[in-house]
Amino acid sequence: MTFRLYPNKQIEQSLQYHRKLHKYLYNAAVNNRFVQYQKFNHKVDYFEQQNCLPAFKEVWTEYKEVGSHALQATLKRVDFAFERWFKGLGKRPRFKSIWHYSGWTYPDSAGFKVESNGKNGYLKLSKIGRIQMRGSAKYWGKPTTCTIVYRNGNWYASITVDVLDQVLKPKALPVGAIGIDLGCSSALSMTDGTNHQQIEAPKFLRNAEGKIKQASKEKRRKIAPNRNKKVKASRRYKKAQSKVTKLVRKVGNQRQNWVHQVAAEIVSGNSFVATEKLEVKNMTSKAKKGKRKRQKAGLNKSILDVGFGMLKSAIKYKVEQIGGVFVEVPTKKIKPSQTCPRCGQQHQKTLDIRVHNCQYCEYEQDRDIAAAEVMLYWSQGKLPGFGTSLVDAELPSSTSSNRKTAGSMRQLGAKKRQKSGSTGLGAETQTSTM
Ligand SMILES: [Zn+2]
Repeated sequence: MTFRLYPNKQIEQSLQYHRKLHKYLYNAAVNNRFVQYQKFNHKVDYFEQQNCLPAFKEVWTEYKEVGSHALQATLKRVDFAFERWFKGLGKRPRFKSIWHYSGWTYPDSAGFKVESNGKNGYLKLSKIGRIQMRGSAKYWGKPTTCTIVYRNGNWYASITVDVLDQVLKPKALPVGAIGIDLGCSSALSMTDGTNHQQIEAPKFLRNAEGKIKQASKEKRRKIAPNRNKKVKASRRYKKAQSKVTKLVRKVGNQRQNWVHQVAAEIVSGNSFVATEKLEVKNMTSKAKKGKRKRQKAGLNKSILDVGFGMLKSAIKYKVEQIGGVFVEVPTKKIKPSQTCPRCGQQHQKTLDIRVHNCQYCEYEQDRDIAAAEVMLYWSQGKLPGFGTSLVDAELPSSTSSNRKTAGSMRQLGAKKRQKSGSTGLGAETQTSTM
């Protein structure tokens, strides 16, 4: 949950100063990785950089007043950027100018203190001061991490909390089981076997796509900055630019709200959810067809399709939080849209055929509902022609509490301790895993 911060002048300066320090560290860490690799063919990993921090602070003494965990979190950002690059998910990490450096993170309770009950209050940052904050959280608990963000001239604190278990864990698990098909003609097609429901993507999301396109078109008509020709961005350009960012951000917020509402509704009645495994490969292979196309695909994707990914992970998160079961159906193996939920026979259907009409058992159903039924029955082991299949399904540790965001730093810490104990200086054997 994000709160807006209202620092006074002196604290604002201090915040900017800290942001700058973190930016320098980020760039230094990026530089270190490139230089080490180019000159000595040595791949620097996170742990090596983290172990250098104390020595680094001895030389650059201004870093002594910054909490070491926050510095580690910044190094973690570097590591994350490189991991993404290596996996082909992101671009080559770049040096960031202060304009493009948003802030820093306190990965655990050290360094910040929240005086709030979930609505407004104060945030105390060590070595910086006490700042008034405004905003309200739906759930509240013990603050675990805090990220300071500077955006459009305003300061924000994004705080994650350990929500007290009583709030989220219902006394009895909801008994419903549901299959969900995402995307295609309606956003969600759900079924519990007897009742079917389809939810459309809200209009504002579809409208927003047009609005953003229009705004970007207007932006392209203004004088764009060009460093080679020493052309500065015109005032109109900047204005148009900020209009685009505002729109994109607004849609992002709206989408997030919608996603959470839908997910909450689903989980309120069901503790068993089966849905398709989204194929990541598809997206990346599409992205390789030229830059222009990629940008275009990116725009289309960002509005709706990314929403489905978000929707899926929101449902997954909520189901796991109440201790339910979330099953991802291997789409390639089962082919939900090509299989009859009643008799299990497969037959090819092109995308334009919107109705499932089985030629073997004469079962007739909307295409997406039928796909949802297949996923539900398959994961319950009820799909004819496919035996008990939960064994094959990827059960992403549904009951264990794997809180990735909050746990990662702690896990890393444990890993580091374990490693320094056993291998000592064996830097080469260390691999940083995300
Ligand atoms: Zn059939």
